[in-house]
Amino acid sequence: MYDCIVVGAGPAGLSASLFLARYRRRTLTFHHNSPRNEYAHSVHGFLGHHGISPAELLARGRDEVTTHGGLIIEGCVTGIERLSNNHFRVSTGNDNLDSRTFDARRILLATGLRDVTPDCTGFRDFYGVSVHHCPDCDGYECIDKRIAVLGSGTKTVGFALGLLTWTNKITLITGDKAGLSKDDRAKLAAFDISVLEQSVKALAGDLKSKQLQRVLFSDGDAFDCDALFFNLGTEPASNLHEVLGCKLDESCGLVWVDQTQQTSVEGVYAAGDITPNSQLAIVAAAEGAMAAIHIHDSLIPSERKTE
Ligand SMILES: Cc1cc2nc3c(=O)[nH]c(=O)nc-3n(C[C@H](O)[C@H](O)[C@H](O)COP(=O)(O)OP(=O)(O)OC[C@H]3O[C@@H](n4cnc5c(N)ncnc54)[C@H](O)[C@@H]3O)c2cc1C
Repeated sequence: MYDCIVVGAGPAGLSASLFLARYRRRTLTFHHNSPRNEYAHSVHGFLGHHGISPAELLARGRDEVTTHGGLIIEGCVTGIERLSNNHFRVSTGNDNLDSRTFDARRILLATGLRDVTPDCTGFRDFYGVSVHHCPDCDGYECIDKRIAVLGSGTKTVGFALGLLTWTNKITLITGDKAGLSKDDRAKLAAFDISVLEQSVKALAGDLKSKQLQRVLFSDGDAFDCDALFFNLGTEPASNLHEVLGCKLDESCGLVWVDQTQQTSVEGVYAAGDITPNSQLAIVAAAEGAMAAIHIHDSLIPSERKTE
């Protein structure tokens, strides 16, 4: 019986696992496939680690967890069952051959999100270097550059206006389903943000440096730019929170947690991008640490506590 099984070894899961190991809790951490930022060339804004590659940050994290006695396994968690208040059963694998179960007193979900990405040729050639989704992460690198924003609807208008923090050379590309109201268009026009309603066919630029140079449209037109930000939404990377019956936050549809990072299901905690806070590596790591503190506290017997 583990004290805690952590599902996810991104910044949230690893930070939690490190603290749990330092609290001398028997901790097992699973990870499967790539973390969310595998395409980023460097992590920006992580104090003390600004510019580190995502792979290096996570490799260091895994090393820190295992040197403290934490166990990390590469494997896909396919199910979690709540047998009682203090007993969960985690299954991995998909068939009888590679299927295994592991028991724990607490669960931490740190499974992250997946970005909905543009469906056009060349996207992967530039993603993470000159094509981005997160202004908080990469806006600073685009100061005074010509930015194309890809997305539609009022949400994308807010997203484009946010980028004025770094540049006033912004063009919105909506495709033929712009979804913009009169007010939206007036707001964009007030800041000289023009709207192109053509559909994107491909991204082109210098492949060696991964520098985007232009957006190519299906009708044969092209638009020159230095960077592209897309705003197409996200989805949870796993459905384990649904399997466990965790309540969602009504305003954003992510996993609801209380101040201790506990979900609506007793004994199940969540941290990182799947919870409602800002989706940044340092925030995910901080939430993981908070979850670990409260998981540890919840496992301390009452006789070792004062009123
Ligand atoms: C291109 C890009 C660039 C970014 N740049 C920055 C930046 O510069 N600065 C910044 O602060 N943030 C940046 N971010 C955001 C940052 O990457 C996320 O906020 C952070 O990774 C969230 O951490 P997490 O631990 O919640 O989730 P993730 O890092 O996504 O990790 C999720 C973990 O869950 C595991 N997992 C999921 N499902 C299962 C399952 N069923 N079984 C087992 N394991 C599972 C995955 O293997 C992974 O280990 C960027 C994101 C992207 C996509």
